[in-house]
Amino acid sequence: MKLYYYCSSCKKENSFTTKTSNRFELKEERGLELSERCPRCGMITKRHLNRVHAKPNKLIILLGAVFGVFVAGVLILLILKISFSPILLFLFYLFIPGTFSIPFISWKIADKKASSFNKLLIAD
Ligand SMILES: [Zn+2]
Repeated sequence: MKLYYYCSSCKKENSFTTKTSNRFELKEERGLELSERCPRCGMITKRHLNRVHAKPNKLIILLGAVFGVFVAGVLILLILKISFSPILLFLFYLFIPGTFSIPFISWKIADKKASSFNKLLIAD
């Protein structure tokens, strides 16, 4: 996931990517303090892991949105192509609103991953 911290020198928000999903794993990987060189001002920032935060992954949300539109499109095409059986039509009309919940669900998943990272702090 992508994690964010503020540079102590230029106060800009920087990010880095890690395979870890919580601060305990991150501590194993990087130690209790993060030291990263700021890509903007070049200063090395030391940040306690509790001051590193996660944000919902926009890529997951975007993929969910694309997938939702795709599924809705396929369903609409099927309705137009398939012989009009009333039961099938009824089923399709039930499913189409469901496809709009795909982006929402993917947003929920991305948000949950980020907030579960942010909630869990490590004790000194
Ligand atoms: Zn900086």
